[in-house]
Amino acid sequence: MYKTKAYSAASAASPLALDTIPRREPTDRDVQMEILFCGICHTDLHFVRNEWSSFAPTVYPIVPGHEIVGRVTKVGGAVTGFKPGDLAGVGCMVDSDGVCPQCKAGREQFCPGVSLTYNGVDKHNTAPVTYGGYSESIVVDERFALRVPPNLDLAGAAPLLCAGITTYSPMRRAGVDKGQKMGVVGLGGLGHMGVKFGRAFGAHVVVFTHSPGKKEDALRLGADEVVVSTNAEEMGKHAGSFDFILDTVSANHDINAYLGQLRPGGHLSLVGAPGDPLPVVAFALIGGNRTLSGSMIGGIAETQEMLDFCGQHGITSDVEIIPIGDVNEAYERMLKSDVKYRFCIDMASLKGETG
Ligand code: NAP
Ligand code: ZN
Repeated sequence: MYKTKAYSAASAASPLALDTIPRREPTDRDVQMEILFCGICHTDLHFVRNEWSSFAPTVYPIVPGHEIVGRVTKVGGAVTGFKPGDLAGVGCMVDSDGVCPQCKAGREQFCPGVSLTYNGVDKHNTAPVTYGGYSESIVVDERFALRVPPNLDLAGAAPLLCAGITTYSPMRRAGVDKGQKMGVVGLGGLGHMGVKFGRAFGAHVVVFTHSPGKKEDALRLGADEVVVSTNAEEMGKHAGSFDFILDTVSANHDINAYLGQLRPGGHLSLVGAPGDPLPVVAFALIGGNRTLSGSMIGGIAETQEMLDFCGQHGITSDVEIIPIGDVNEAYERMLKSDVKYRFCIDMASLKGETG
């Protein structure tokens, strides 16, 4: 076991602050990396503030962060895919049983033995729960280390590990393609990646935003059209016309307004995860054989496929790079939808922190 610096929150009401956490020495199958960049996902904020307490209660202290890009510092004797000096990424998972039907199907996120990157089961008993990427280094089973295309900007690549795969996976499953009309609800970290993938897949992309000031950015990011969701006239214009809609909103909102935007047979995939239930009007689904589904991140092989796709197409997240000392302010800005379009922590800033 060794110690590493991290930022943790001691309770739902505490700000994130400098801490020291234990990490295991790499075992035979482990990859140890120095973390270079870590994106800030809205899920980090939900967990830090225990907003999902009824189904995923937070264990404190919590060290968030599951959009991790780093450089390998040490590998175990049985590791074949990485060597010291390589770039590597870690997303939302660090372990799974590897043998269940979900693992075999490449859906490790649904394995009963999955370990999430933070607030998850630490199978090595290094700490009460797993600790995430707001830290100097991390040690993961090789199966959960991803190869980061070397041509990508590293800070812009980090958010691909969660925001990237969470949008890529449902869009691929829905067959978003040329000639289709897709909507993206919410232009934040996930939403802006949905726009970039929609563009890359050749779809006609319409952004729904409740922030009128994001119109120009939405077009710059690749949207063909923008609808301000508080404007009834603009909302009415597209009613009943979408093949697919990706809903990324982090707060409570009227999902029926978006179900009504689908064409008959259309499909809305919910990836945003507000803590409270979202009421659904039966006729918003029945009237038009519409489908409402959910989607959780993506499996490891699909995450690698997404990273390779991003490498080939030069796709990264638009990031605002911050020192770790600004993380609490970044959370407040995220709550105000003031993110352009992902905060990413330069982890070198943690070295200088002395508390
Ligand atoms: P984010 O960067 O904060 O973006 C969320 C966006 O939702 C905002 O930028 C805003 O877009 C919109 N929004 C926020 N509050 C709103 C309100 N009151 N009414 C209407 N729109 C509102 O968050 P994120 O990191 O993209 O994450 C989004 C959600 O996805 C979170 O709940 C997160 O936990 C969840 N998530 C799920 C998965 C999964 O596997 N399913 C993975 C990662 C994250 P506009 O300003 O454009 O309206
Ligand atoms: Zn995330």
